[in-house]
Formats: sequence, C-alpha cells, structure tokens
Amino acid sequence: MSNEVIQLSSAQIKEVVSHYGNQRIERNAPGVVFAAKLQDTSITAYKSGKVLFQGGGATREAMRWGTAQEKTGTKVNATKGDTLPEAFALKSVLGSDETGKGDFFGPMTVAACFVPADKIDLIQFLGVKDSKMLTDDLMRKMAPDLKHSLTYSILVLGNEKYNTVQAKGWSQGKITALLHNQALKHVLTKIDPTKPDYILIDQFAERGIYFNHIKTEKEIIRENVLFSTKAEQLHVSVAAASILARVAFLEEMDKLSQKAGVTIPKGAGPKVDEVAAKILLAKGEDFLTSITKKHFANTGKAMTIARKKKNY
Ligand code: MN
Repeated sequence: MSNEVIQLSSAQIKEVVSHYGNQRIERNAPGVVFAAKLQDTSITAYKSGKVLFQGGGATREAMRWGTAQEKTGTKVNATKGDTLPEAFALKSVLGSDETGKGDFFGPMTVAACFVPADKIDLIQFLGVKDSKMLTDDLMRKMAPDLKHSLTYSILVLGNEKYNTVQAKGWSQGKITALLHNQALKHVLTKIDPTKPDYILIDQFAERGIYFNHIKTEKEIIRENVLFSTKAEQLHVSVAAASILARVAFLEEMDKLSQKAGVTIPKGAGPKVDEVAAKILLAKGEDFLTSITKKHFANTGKAMTIARKKKNY
C-alpha cells in the first residue's frame, strides 16, 4: 500500500472535491473536509490543505494534482534535498529526525526508526503521519505502540552535556549531526544492517556539511544515506522517528517541570523569558543553566527581568 501527501490551495481542494464527487464517502475524523474512495485509492482532504492518498493508486492520483499544480505554478510539497528513488514510500527505510533545537528549556532529542516495507501498513494504521498534523497528546498515545512495533533508538542530550559541548565550540549543527549518526548506528546494530533499502535523514544541513561535522567519528553511517527536508512526508520511518523524538522531549520537559516546580514552556518566546526569570529568582542561576540551553538569548533576557523584579 502506498501513501502520498500533498499540499493544495483551497481553490485546488475545490477541484479535488468536484473531481472525486461521485466517489465521496462520509468520514467524521477531525480536520477532514472531504473524503472519497476509489477502487484502489482512498482520498482524504484536510482543512489544512493537506490531501492524503492511500492505496495502490495513491501515487497515480496524487500525481494528477502534482501536475495540475506545476501548470499553475504553485509547487506541491516542496522538499529540498536528494531526489528519492521511485516509490520511495514503499521501501524499507531507516529514518531519523530530531526535536528541541529551538527550545530554550529542555534537551535535544534524536530518534531513528526502521520501518521495513511489510510494516508500512501497520505503522500507518497506528496513525503515523506528518507529525505537524498531530497534537502532542496524540503523539504521546501513539509512542508506546510504535516502540512495541519497531526497532528504534532514541537519544536524549541533556542540558548539562549540551552546554558543555556547546561551550567547547560545537555548533548546534554539529551536535545534531553527531546524534543522528549515533542513533542510526544504534538501530543498525539491532537489525540486519543490509535490511534497509535506504536511510533517510530529515535534512537540517547539506550533505557535505553533515559529513564534515561527523568526519572524526569512528563509525560513520554513509551508505545509502539520503537527505530531504520535510522527510516525514516522504517515508513513515521519519514520521515515526519524529514522533518518538518529540515524545522523548515532552517526557523530559515533564521531568524538568517537576524539578522546577512550575510548568516549563516550549519554544524561546517571551513566555519562556518570564518563566526562566521566575526560576532564576526561586532557584538560582546554576539551576536554571542545568535545565536550559545556556547560549540562547533567553538567558540574558531572563536575567534582566529577574533583576528588575528584585528591585521592586
Ligand atoms: Mn526535522
């Protein structure tokens, strides 16, 4: 079974609705605006403009709209990176993705996940799709099933270690690359390493930069490695990895919230500065550093807020 996701404009969604109008089916899932069932393909259109094609005819039907879009000049599902082999979504792939790079509080997490061709259906059945379409709570619920069904590796780089290597001059790109290489290596030691047809990394750096970052590593996973942005749309292994990395991050954030005695926010916005200032005043600078990425501008902002508060 194949799976294609494309992004369409609302005008194009209207065209989809009229094109498949005769095969329309009722589907009361959240966010679904239209669903149809052809003999070999199910089509689901979401409020977000994403359209999911599933089944033997998925690629054929998705292509129909891909071509239409090329004509109108809007690019579908624009990904950057390697050109993937044909029917890539149906291959046995080891995928990897990370979370936490943009969050002041909490670790960086990377997950790698192997989905053999014969488990693609199962993983889709478990609800794995583009993680941007899933809520945190849904991902938390799905993670145990994924862990049970797949061979994976999850790496959590805690803040103390992160701050140490960052202070040594390692860029976030280098840290990310090292973690991906590690996670991929771990999975390859747990499975027959000839089993994945390909390895797909959700691209955060160009190929040359990635391999430069990890060039001094003893073991470098290089064979059949492909890079693409938005890779979670291209193979469920990356979508599953993305979910596992995200859930590991959320679980760490839960622990840190416990430790800090306050719910720790994600991201790096003004709310984060406020909470960081509160923690700073209550528990001191060393504690704050132990649960944050120190080099972020939030550190300075939190200190400014805390200083002002103390003077009141
Ligand atoms: Mn990513």
